[in-house]
This record gives sequence, structure tokens and C-alpha cells, in this order.
Amino acid sequence: CGVFGVLVASEDEQASFAVFDGLYALQHRGQESAGIAAVDDGRITVVKDLGLVASVFDEATLRALRGRLAIGHTRYATAGDRGWENAQPLLHDHAGAQIAVAHNGNLTDPPQTPAPNGRIPSDTERIAAAVAEALGSATTPAAVAEAVAHALAPLHGAFSLVMTDGQHLIAARDRHGFRPLCVGRFPDGGWVVASETPALDVVGASFEREVDPGEVLVIGDDAQASSSLPGPHFQHLCVFEFVYFARPDAKLLGREVHGTRRRMGEHLARVAPVEADMVMGVPDSGIPAAEGYALASGIPYGQGLVKNRYIGRTFINPGAAQRRQAIRRKLNALEDNVRGKRLVVVDDSIVRGATTRQLVALLRQAGAAEVHLRISSPPYRWPCYYGIDTPSRPELIASRLSVDEIAQELGADSLAYLPLAHLRDAVGVTHGCCDACLTGAYPETVSEAAAAGAGS
Ligand code: 5GP
Ligand code: SF4
Ligand code: MG
Repeated sequence: CGVFGVLVASEDEQASFAVFDGLYALQHRGQESAGIAAVDDGRITVVKDLGLVASVFDEATLRALRGRLAIGHTRYATAGDRGWENAQPLLHDHAGAQIAVAHNGNLTDPPQTPAPNGRIPSDTERIAAAVAEALGSATTPAAVAEAVAHALAPLHGAFSLVMTDGQHLIAARDRHGFRPLCVGRFPDGGWVVASETPALDVVGASFEREVDPGEVLVIGDDAQASSSLPGPHFQHLCVFEFVYFARPDAKLLGREVHGTRRRMGEHLARVAPVEADMVMGVPDSGIPAAEGYALASGIPYGQGLVKNRYIGRTFINPGAAQRRQAIRRKLNALEDNVRGKRLVVVDDSIVRGATTRQLVALLRQAGAAEVHLRISSPPYRWPCYYGIDTPSRPELIASRLSVDEIAQELGADSLAYLPLAHLRDAVGVTHGCCDACLTGAYPETVSEAAAAGAGS
């Protein structure tokens, strides 16, 4: 998911327009629903719906969302719940007070007992209820920060949150910092919180800093306050933010993501060389690593596939047949460019293998002489419980088959993955990053019940 929030300084500016721009820049983080919660005169109004940011909001709707403080969300459904009722921000009423919550991540605590109406509260509902109850009559930023830290203390798993209580812009991150979150400032003094830095750039804010793992940051008109969740904090940002998820122009942990992807490709060329005529990337996510592979190998870079730029990410569609059709709609081969050539085809990851099998077939139909797959991450063998919707182990091709068997299954002439040590080196983070889906070493234990619910 993408989360975003702003508090603008000037009385005659509306926050909703900036939130729209920020969400538009974060569209890649979730394409199932979009929403904005705006604070006008202390009251919170939410507009949200299924669909892309640009189809949920038009100028009239944004104009109607008055006020200087607003938050927003783009949703990428995990755990299969794709309905309207899960669109965010979530508005929660408690004892006459309101809060709105936008959440990126997944809790790993056992699901709660059903509410009186029989429904099991969603992760975001749990967070909203806990925060609303803890807030009580807190009004100063410092008191709000303490209360939010207290409410979030017992929760485990991944949460990068942007919230408002009708007075403050509130940001918080779990103790591991699984999902990114950063803070920016407008030149005239307003504040922005966003999943990724490009969303700061588009609204004209400058990067201030990342929200720390385990930090709660509360921004009011006249003051800010920060508090921390009790217990140890870690730097376990998801390594797949670098490999695939984040925008290439995002800066995470002080590095531009594109450069880390290019380095992944350079390492891949060194550890898995092959004689070939052209290096190509699978659009869009495989392209920076292909650039790196070509640079380091000296093999010319070219394009072998064209992507329909109006189609979003295919991975997220439920059902194998739907995914197959979606991939066919999305990618087509450039016949003149691939005919008779020995190709190095670089992609970021193989999860189920469906996408890759199809595009190998596509390239062969277009006349490719050889297809050598090079993947800029290690084999993906374990489900993610921290906010990315991956299938259960039997559906992960690398947890069933060896590398040679995968190559066969996908119809490739050869296949090589980037070893973990090289991935870490390319990212340049020696002290951490979650890589549990590659190693099985989960930074935080996952309750059996939560594990059974996730990755489905
Ligand atoms: P598959 O080969 O498993 O069908 O698809 C893998 C491709 O889906 C990857 O190359 C990647 O570009 C894309 N993808 C979309 N969403 C995700 C995600 O959440 N995680 C990973 N690892 N890949 C994803
Ligand atoms: Fe990211 Fe994998 Fe960790 Fe999930 S398990 S947070 S996808 S590195
Ligand atoms: Mg891809």
C-alpha cells in the first residue's frame, strides 16, 4: 500500500490536492482502492472507492474535501480481502472523537475474536480502535505521541501508518521498519509524510528524514513531538522494496533505488556470465538490472518486449487464468529485435513462475535463438507476512523445484539467480533488511493463526 499525509501551513490552501498528487506518485504501491480523509474544522470526511487514484477522484471531489490537514491511501490487498469495506483511510469513531488511519503492512498477531456482529476486525480496525482508545483527551503533540506509542506497543508485524485525530498529522512505524515511511517539509513550513520520497518531490516538499523504526511522530500547527515504542528497534526494511516494490527514483536508507538495481545487474553479470547477443530487461521492474548486466558484461543492451503503459501490475490479480490473460495484454515481443538472437533476459524475481514462463514462450515465438534468464534476487522460497501478498509455499516455484528444474519448467536455456551476499552488497546495507522470503529467517515470529490467514 501507499500512505501519504500533509499539513499545509497556509490557510487558503487545501491539503486534499497535495494528497491526490502524493497518492498518484504512490499508485504503484496499490491499485485496488484509493482514499482521502480530510480534516475541516476538526471534523474528518473520507472519500474512498475501489479503483485507481485518478478514477476515484476528480477536481470537484477534491475541492469538496476542505481543510489544511489530510491523509490518503492506495490499497494493495493482502490476505485476499479485496472488497470496498477494506478501502482506506479507515474512519473510526470513539466516544465522540474521530480518527482516520491509513496503513501499509500486515500484523502478525493472532487475529482477534469476532466482534458482536460476528466480523473479525481487520488489522487496520484493530490499530484504529487501540489508538482511539489510548488517545482519550490527549491534545498536545507530546501527549498524543505518548498515547499512540502506548496503543501500538502490543502490536506485532508490519505497520507504516499515517493517521489524523482531527488536529494532528501522525506517523508511526513498527519496530522493524519493514515498510518505508519518510517525512518532508514544504518551503513555507507545512509538513508531509509519505511511503516513498518521489511523493515528496511531486508536491514540492523537500526530504527531511525517514521515520525511524519504532517511532511515533506527531505534527501539529505549532509543535511536533516524537515518541518510541517500548522494546528494541531494528532496521529491517523489506529488501524487496529495493528489488521490486519501490519506485526506481525513491531514496531508501539514503540510496536511490535505481542504483541498487543497476548494481544487482552488474553483480549478476559477474556471477552468472553467458555468451549472448543482447541483454534485455522485463519491463518495467527488470530494466535497471538489465542495464547493469549489459554494462558489466559488455553485451549490447536492447529492448525485446513492449509493455502497454496503461496496464498496472499483473501479479496482484487473483486466479491463474486471469493473471495469464493480464500478462498477455501487458507484454508483447519486438520481433525484429529478438529474431535469431541469443538473449539474456533479466527480471527482478520469480514468484509463481507464471509470468516468466509466458514471456519465455513469447520470446521464442518471436524467433529468439536462446533465452538465458537472469534474476536479480535469490530464489523466493518463503511467504511474506509483512505486507506483500505472496502465495503459500507450494505455489512458490523455488520452494518446489531446484534451479535446473525451474529452468526446464519455464522453458529457458539457462537460469541463474543473484546470490544473497551479492544482493546485500548491491543494496549496500550490511546491518539488516528483512530477507525472510529468501532465507526463511523471519525477523519477527508469526503466529500460526496469522500465518494461516496470510499469503492466501
Ligand atoms: P511470476 O514469475 O511469479 O509469475 O511473477 C513474478 C513477477 O511479478 C516479478 O518479476 C515481479 O516483477 C512481479 N511482481 C509483482 N508483484 C510482486 C511482489 O509483490 N513481489 C515480487 N517478488 N514480485 C512481484
Ligand atoms: Fe520483504 Fe520478503 Fe521480508 Fe516480506 S519477507 S518484508 S517481501 S523481504
Ligand atoms: Mg516483473
